[in-house]
Amino acid sequence: MNCILLGPPGAGKGTQGKKIEEAFGVVHLSTGDMFREARKSDKVVDELIALGQLVPDDIVVDVIKKRLQKEDIKKGFLLDGFPRTLNQAKEFDVVLETRQIKIDLVFFIDVHFEESVKRIAGRRVCPSCGVSYHVIATPPKVPDKCDFCCNLLVQRNDDRESIVRDRLKIYRKHSEPLVDYYKRAGSIVYIDGSKGELDVFKQISKHLEIR
Ligand SMILES: [Zn+2]
Repeated sequence: MNCILLGPPGAGKGTQGKKIEEAFGVVHLSTGDMFREARKSDKVVDELIALGQLVPDDIVVDVIKKRLQKEDIKKGFLLDGFPRTLNQAKEFDVVLETRQIKIDLVFFIDVHFEESVKRIAGRRVCPSCGVSYHVIATPPKVPDKCDFCCNLLVQRNDDRESIVRDRLKIYRKHSEPLVDYYKRAGSIVYIDGSKGELDVFKQISKHLEIR
């Protein structure tokens, strides 16, 4: 059982990925983790990321390709954070074909634009111990202060509202053709991401259990 998890920033892909890995025994392949790993052995990747530059599609696909060579993916995998663009999806399909790997389902966790803004722009993090909060969903006991070390909480630069709006617009521009592409392939499953974590997990599980 091989799946792809799509959805805007703030849709909870990482959280769902971990839950699905635990419940169904598939390997959660997060691009964040794969790139952290790739930076250690690949100088080009390391330099691009260090300079804050966009990693070209062929290099991204190459990192995924290498990860798919490991034995553990035979029990099934769940890709999270890849593909991001139509071009990556097409290149990935070529890789899959040569490896004779089939993608069974592509989940698209749908979250409205303004809801995504609220979720991300409300994030706060403790710079000292790294614990995360959300001003509405999981606020600290004392406003702006960490429950554990009392340090002042900060907002990541990427999480500022104007930047979030830009990030989401870019995401939307790339994801629409991507979702269309998988829709035509007949593998897309729409998940209503407006509700909580547990509800999203139940919706996804339903599709995995019947297989
Ligand atoms: Zn703290």
